[in-house]
Amino acid sequence: TSKLSESDPELFAAVTGELGRQRDEIELIASENIVSRAVLEAQGSILTNKYAEGYPGRRYYGGCEFADVAENLAIERAKQLFGCEFANVQPHSGSQANQGVFMALLKPGDTILGMSLDAGGHLTHGAAPNQSGKWFNAVHYGVRRQDDLLDYEQVESLAREHKPKLLIAGGSAIPRVIDFARMRAIADEVGAYFLVDMAHFAGLVAAGEHPNPFPHAHIATTTTHKTLRGPRGGMILTNDAGLAKKFNSAIFPGIQGGPLMHVIAAKAVAFGEALRPEYKTYIQNVVKNASALSDQLVKGGLKTVTGGTDTHVMLVDLRPKGVKGNDTEKALERAHITCNKNGVPFDPESPTVTSGIRLGSPAGTTRGFGEAEFRQIADWIIEVVDGLAANGPEGNGEVESRVREQVLALCKKFPLYPDL
Ligand code: PLP
Repeated sequence: TSKLSESDPELFAAVTGELGRQRDEIELIASENIVSRAVLEAQGSILTNKYAEGYPGRRYYGGCEFADVAENLAIERAKQLFGCEFANVQPHSGSQANQGVFMALLKPGDTILGMSLDAGGHLTHGAAPNQSGKWFNAVHYGVRRQDDLLDYEQVESLAREHKPKLLIAGGSAIPRVIDFARMRAIADEVGAYFLVDMAHFAGLVAAGEHPNPFPHAHIATTTTHKTLRGPRGGMILTNDAGLAKKFNSAIFPGIQGGPLMHVIAAKAVAFGEALRPEYKTYIQNVVKNASALSDQLVKGGLKTVTGGTDTHVMLVDLRPKGVKGNDTEKALERAHITCNKNGVPFDPESPTVTSGIRLGSPAGTTRGFGEAEFRQIADWIIEVVDGLAANGPEGNGEVESRVREQVLALCKKFPLYPDL
């Protein structure tokens, strides 16, 4: 019955500290966003108390009538958003959505073909340290040396050679739209299922600002917390009734127990928000802002991989300035601009150093930044990077603290959760 501030001051301090950090920093991590108060409220609700193993109308526990309402709302809204027939909204994360698909369709030792981590793929697409890389025979395609674009010819030749059971498209650092029809044709030729992991760009699809994986994909998986702007979680979508049944069994009882009903409720709220016209405008701004950021960084002397972006995310190649990704991430953090170091295709540096940073516009756009603000942010990034280029990893302290003051002033103009 007690409030967090009174019952656990230590933990409360961590939460308020994090709120302060989010308020006072510019968030450019491409996989993050800022959820609405309604999503926070649903996720913080008493639905966390409920066990609801099974699916709506077919539960293993009593008292699930309201849990059923919440899950059915999430399912129906997801189907409407993505124009598909079946949705499983129970995966606890994007990784578990993918794991559920693997559990349903594959046996240990089977071959899968996905994009390599260093070209922009995700760990769960067969990377060596991930379960998908340990339990399956994972083969990887990448991007072309001449233009850093997805190498469809390589996908085709690897598919013919290795005959994968599952072909995966999508990843965590892909700035350009993927040709789903071409990937499906390759999958069909070798008899593979075609999975699109749209975790990053799902929000763009939902808003009609990006090609839909359907009808090309047999399956689409996603996270719900990136461009979709919902709670942390995952989801599996398909148009195939037989596959849907397999995915339901794979998620529960295959790899999960009780669903997180409070999170599913928050997914329903976020999907409801994404169905509104304001969300389409939001996503249009996300795409415009990402292009403005990329354009201004290039004007400042940096390179962006593939020369720009079609989406919300870009990979910045720092080599024209002779600085490293790890040093840049730290220097920008000192200036209250948050991003992550990221390898660029064919990066000569190790994954802990890298020649790049990954930037995205979803969180800043939610905050209210427009193209002018994103161009200003690009100029600040250039100033900080130039400080690193001139002074080495410790950067230019004077520039960094001046930028930090300007960042703080901008953040004050666009208050975050003002009534929290
Ligand atoms: N798939 C892709 C393409 C991702 O970018 C991510 C998130 O980083 C995931 C899956 C995994 O999502 P989660 O972190 O929720 O497990």
